[in-house]
Amino acid sequence: MNCKIGVISGDGIGPEIVREARKVLDRVAERFGHQFMYMELLLGGASIDAYGVPLTEETIEKAKSCEAVLMGSIGGDAKTSPWYQLEPSRRPEAGLLGIRKALNLFANLRPAYLYEELREACPLRADISEAGFDMLIMRELTGGLYFGARKTEEVDGVRTAMDTLSYNEHEIRRIAKRAFDIAMKRRKKVCSVDKANVLDSSRLWRKVVEEVAKDYPEVALSHMYVDNCAMQLVMNPAQFDVILTENMFGDILSDEASMVTGSIGMLSSASLNDTRFGLYEPSHGSAPDLAGQDKANPIATILSAAMMLRYSFDLDQEAEAVEAAVRQVLKEGYRTGDIMSEGGICTGTTQMGDLIAAHI
Ligand code: NAD
Repeated sequence: MNCKIGVISGDGIGPEIVREARKVLDRVAERFGHQFMYMELLLGGASIDAYGVPLTEETIEKAKSCEAVLMGSIGGDAKTSPWYQLEPSRRPEAGLLGIRKALNLFANLRPAYLYEELREACPLRADISEAGFDMLIMRELTGGLYFGARKTEEVDGVRTAMDTLSYNEHEIRRIAKRAFDIAMKRRKKVCSVDKANVLDSSRLWRKVVEEVAKDYPEVALSHMYVDNCAMQLVMNPAQFDVILTENMFGDILSDEASMVTGSIGMLSSASLNDTRFGLYEPSHGSAPDLAGQDKANPIATILSAAMMLRYSFDLDQEAEAVEAAVRQVLKEGYRTGDIMSEGGICTGTTQMGDLIAAHI
């Protein structure tokens, strides 16, 4: 298979972790007989340095010409970086929001998986973490409360603010389909999370999700109120496979789910549109405190590349090979500083990439 991949190395530790992910992809290509072609794209601080703006039309057009984009993190230290002297619309993060919008990336996926070897980092009680968990939060990314009309005004001398939460059936249907498609590649369970006992938008959400479910008879659908879900994530995370939810609920729940793994350097993510295109990036930031020191954990970016293989290229076997290599390296005791524990073998960014590539 020939695949054209856009690469945004980004800022801070971005270039180091993306380099390791490419190393692993190159090994996959060699082992399975594919050809991956890379196209470098500038975004965030690196784009500001080159062009004075965090996102250019050129980057958008080049990204659109690729089948998927792999990205390191962007941004710098807000206290010391000159990028943060610029007005907000010209700062690195504006580039990220801009590219998500330009590429119509409405579905955000964040897996939360507890590696047996990293169980000690899990902040949950041992009797809960023992069962392990492997879930994926699918969050709607371009609608709902964060994009609805808002205003702040004085009503009869009282300062009053308003935000609106609105979804139409098309927005709900397209993300629900994505969630069911992905559940078919996993354990075939979707838990749709809403607040249908209170909100009209949630009642419509529930109806449309049920309509979509009819096309996926093999997938077991359940519904859960968001407040209950927040509790269940810490009481019994093993019950979840795919959690499907709207923008704000997903924002909160995906952070909660990632934190119960306890390992920020391990968390991958993907943002998808309604084609097979996706933008794949680690969930963490650009860690300017670690940049250029060979200390960053590249695993979140390597696992994001595995998601790219699975969701944009349908290369499930290759994705599994990458995930198995990560598990094996952890099993052998290798750890970057962020996941180090007693008895572990401390490795740098480059060595971690080498080890994972060597296990494919
Ligand atoms: P951060 O995630 O960069 O760092 C938080 C802590 O986690 C730091 O101690 C850091 O050293 C550590 N850490 C993060 N990734 C690591 C890795 N791979 N290996 C080892 N340790 C790791 O969050 P922050 O410090 O709040 O933000 C730094 C910059 O990143 C800011 O400019 C922020 O805007 C940006 N940011 C970008 C994204 C993105 O590109 N999607 C997301 C979050 C933050």
